[in-house]
Amino acid sequence: MSKLSRQFKVPDELANLYDFANTLDVRHFTHHGVQHPQGDELTNARELAVWLQQRGLLLADAKISPAMLATAHELRSLVRDHLQRDPPERSTNKDSIRALNKALKLFPLLVTAGDGGMVLRAAREDALAGLSSVVAELYDGSRNGTLDRLKMCASDECRRVFFDRSKPATRRWCMSSLCGNRMKTRNYRERQRSAE
Ligand SMILES: [Zn+2]
Repeated sequence: MSKLSRQFKVPDELANLYDFANTLDVRHFTHHGVQHPQGDELTNARELAVWLQQRGLLLADAKISPAMLATAHELRSLVRDHLQRDPPERSTNKDSIRALNKALKLFPLLVTAGDGGMVLRAAREDALAGLSSVVAELYDGSRNGTLDRLKMCASDECRRVFFDRSKPATRRWCMSSLCGNRMKTRNYRERQRSAE
């Protein structure tokens, strides 16, 4: 759970997944004359360690190697690719499934009995074990259907992952007032141009 996931009312059980996908910020739209700065919260091992630590996902003394950082980036890229697709397409696009499965294979999970019943726990015992929690959220969300509401904004200039709380679950933009309007205005202008 983070400030942002709370602000946008993302269910707690998807909060780490939501935050992880959004550690890459590719937004580059202009709002009130100012261009949004792009960013990556996980550019190095130190930043990844801090990100994990802030969520209680880092084992003490665990070191993150450059190869592990690359594995984390690969997982993020494939998770974003998965969320970018329309929910019905997520389970049918073979290339996307194959690529995602390759990344998921590196984060095996164990079924463990506990206080609250059965839970999935990381089989990894290194510094990336915390990312297995993100993978477990992916699994749980897929089982209970909430993952279908975790989407990527349809605006090319945004691509932020958001949680669709609308009743019909048909939202396409993280914020209709910003991304939705910008897209509509642009499409309108393009139509005008091609009509001229
Ligand atoms: Zn957006």
